[in-house]
Amino acid sequence: MTDVQELLLSRIRDVADYPEPGVMFKDITPLLADPAAFTVLTDSLAQVAERTGATKVVGLEARGFILGAPVAVRAGLGFIPVRKAGKLPGATLSQAYDLEYGSAEIEVHAEDLGAEDRILVVDDVLATGGTAEASIQLIRRAGAEVAGLAVLMELGFLGGRDRLAPALAGAPLEAL
Ligand code: AMP
Repeated sequence: MTDVQELLLSRIRDVADYPEPGVMFKDITPLLADPAAFTVLTDSLAQVAERTGATKVVGLEARGFILGAPVAVRAGLGFIPVRKAGKLPGATLSQAYDLEYGSAEIEVHAEDLGAEDRILVVDDVLATGGTAEASIQLIRRAGAEVAGLAVLMELGFLGGRDRLAPALAGAPLEAL
């Protein structure tokens, strides 16, 4: 493990049985409260944006906003929020996806994405990959290209990486 990885991991708090029994919640608030760790995280994700040739950053509600916005500023790129349904005031594209129980829907302002864009998707945790997969489908449907997906942490045992392989179609998935 690198020094950066050790620093980041040391600032993530495991909370057992939250928000429901059986889930080990990865709480990033200690990391956000530590300026050195938050800066290292932002810089590392901005390097991914630069490596992948992204032209814009998409952040997934809600913690993907906290990470994605400073990454976009650091990399000199625009930031686009992908939100839960019903939160964006303009004309939207939406994408439904299945959850363990029921389904969910995410949206983006249609005017924010076009054929000239290469998008880096940013989120805190990759779990089953359902949210990231829906966001990639949304970006493609808007006509934009997916430069990659960058997350702080991947819960490997949930198989998100395998699930996302077809949607990513060769675009990189980087988990710090
Ligand atoms: P998924 O769609 O299953 O990959 O879930 C990803 C979304 O749920 C991300 O936006 C995460 O913020 C959140 N999430 C899922 N599992 C966890 C976990 N164990 N700890 C913290 N956040 C999680």
